[in-house]
Amino acid sequence: MTPLELVLSALPDARQVGDNQWSAKCPAHDDKTASLSIAEGDGGRAILHCHAKCTPRAICDELGLGMRDLFPGTSTASASAKPRETAKTTEVRRHANGKKLQTYATAEMAIAILERSRGPCSAKWAYHNAQGEVVGWTLRWDKSGGKEILPVSLTADGWIVGGMPTPRPLYRLPELTVARRVYVTEGEKAADAGRALGLVTTCSAHGAQSAKQTDWSRLAGKEVVLLPDNDTAGQQYADTVARILAKLHPAPVIKYVELPDLPPKGDLYDFVATRISEGRN
Ligand SMILES: [Zn+2]
Repeated sequence: MTPLELVLSALPDARQVGDNQWSAKCPAHDDKTASLSIAEGDGGRAILHCHAKCTPRAICDELGLGMRDLFPGTSTASASAKPRETAKTTEVRRHANGKKLQTYATAEMAIAILERSRGPCSAKWAYHNAQGEVVGWTLRWDKSGGKEILPVSLTADGWIVGGMPTPRPLYRLPELTVARRVYVTEGEKAADAGRALGLVTTCSAHGAQSAKQTDWSRLAGKEVVLLPDNDTAGQQYADTVARILAKLHPAPVIKYVELPDLPPKGDLYDFVATRISEGRN
């Protein structure tokens, strides 16, 4: 996909108005006309020009693109990450707060757009609805400056870069139904460490502050083992979850397990990783 094709795929209302020129409503300002001109420049770069003087950076921000997506050969996206869908598959949705949200026909397309500016993600975790369909992804990039986590979610209008509509499903929801005992961690990475041990393990989506936005009802009547991270936020998360669970009918049996010898901020993943490395020594 060339930079021009990428920009056009993010602007479904773009119309070709010349040999090498397209126009579209500018996503960076409240555009009543088609103020944005798009063209292919020297060497295959994409040119964005808003007649209301929005900067290319502001326009890229609204489209979910990075500035380097405007230039050929600078994207770190792999060929396999190319969206399956081409132009005309996206639309602009307006949020309640007036902000436009780009929507995509498929999760793969939204993820490919993010990976074009960030490179391939380090990890991704799927969320399923009760029918077993994927309705959200949590994507993680590990960078030298720290981690970046972004959700890609299915909404009534299509896939967005943003959180799942509430109430959100628990991680690995379909696996929880038949389990009598379910372990709860603070994040997907620790939950996967639990699953690798054969424990049915879940967590809520979109971070420790978002426990209340998740539907925990699937855990009613079960034995639920909370595995808090070794920090204050981890304790608060476990307490919040315990309060939510206590209101379910039938109430689950709630247990806290403080994993021994955790490093500060450590979790089940660290607990397992430490023991694996000790076993090797
Ligand atoms: Zn503009």
